[in-house]
Amino acid sequence: MGRTMLPIEFDHQSLASLPLVDEARAQGVIRLLRGIIERRVLPTFRKNAAVDAVLLARVSERYRIERLEDVLGRIRTVSILTHSPDGWTIHIHERVFDYISFGIPWDLTAADSAIPAPEGRKALAFAELLLRHELEHMVKPHADEREVILSDAEFAMDRRELDPVYYRTLREALGDELGGLRGVRYLKLLDRFERDENTDDLVAEILPLHAERLAEVPSLLLVGAFQTMGRELKCRVIEACYRMSRNTAYALVERSASLRKVLRLFIEQLEIDQEEFEAIFASFTDRWGVALLLQERCPSRLSTAVRWSC
Ligand SMILES: [Zn+2]
Repeated sequence: MGRTMLPIEFDHQSLASLPLVDEARAQGVIRLLRGIIERRVLPTFRKNAAVDAVLLARVSERYRIERLEDVLGRIRTVSILTHSPDGWTIHIHERVFDYISFGIPWDLTAADSAIPAPEGRKALAFAELLLRHELEHMVKPHADEREVILSDAEFAMDRRELDPVYYRTLREALGDELGGLRGVRYLKLLDRFERDENTDDLVAEILPLHAERLAEVPSLLLVGAFQTMGRELKCRVIEACYRMSRNTAYALVERSASLRKVLRLFIEQLEIDQEEFEAIFASFTDRWGVALLLQERCPSRLSTAVRWSC
C-alpha cells in the first residue's frame, strides 16, 4: 500500500539552532498542517480522475502527522511515510518540523488571517509540497517514486500559472541554503519543467540518492515505510542497504545492521506479497547473486523462499 517520502534532504547543522517545540506547540502545528491538507491538498485530488474516490475518502480519515524524533541524528530525509493496519503516518523530521513551526505565527488561531513573516511563507510553501507528495503516495498506491516526483513538478507548474506568488515562495524555500533545505535538484527539476525540457537524467540522479538516505533510516521505521514504496524504490533501497553492508568504510556493527535490514525487508515483502517478493528478489540476485546472502544467518522462512526462487 501507499508509497514514500519526499526526496529532499536538509542540513542538520543550520536547522539545529531553531527553538525547541513543546508538545502543545507541536499539536498546534499539526492542526495547521492538517488544515493545509484539508483546504489545499485534498481538493486537488478530488478533481483528479485518476484517483479512486473511495480510497481518497479512506485516506482523508486515516492519516496522522507526527514530529519524527531523530535522537542519533541519523536521518537525512525530510519526511517518511509509513503504513500500518491503522492507517498512514506522515513523519516529518524534527528539524524540518521545527523549521515549519518557527516560521508560522505563535498564535495559531490567527494563522489563517495573519500574514506570516517571509520565513513563514517559505516554510508553509514547502510544507504544502511535502504534504502533497506524501498524500499522492497514499492515494496512488501503485505509483512509483519517479511518477510522484514528476507530479510534484506538475503541481508546481500549475501553481506557477494560478498562484505565481506561491510558486516564487516555494522556489525561494527550495533554494534557501541558509534555511537548511537542500532542494537544489528539485529547483533544477522545476527549471526544466518551465522550459519544457527532458528531466530523465535529473530523476536518475535523485532516485539512487533518495534510496541511500532511506537505507540509513532505523530498521523499524524503514519496515513501516517499505510497504509504501513502489517496486523500483523497494529494489533500490534493498540494494542500498546491501551496498552499505559490504562497504568497509562503515563500522562492523553498522554493516551487520544493514545486512539485517536487507533480510528484514525481504521477509516483510514475502509476508505482504509473494509475487512482488519474487520480482524484487530476482532483480537483487541478477545484480548481486544469491550466494553472498545465503552465507549470512538467514531466517528459515526466507531461506526456504530463496531456494524456491532459485
Ligand atoms: Zn516519495
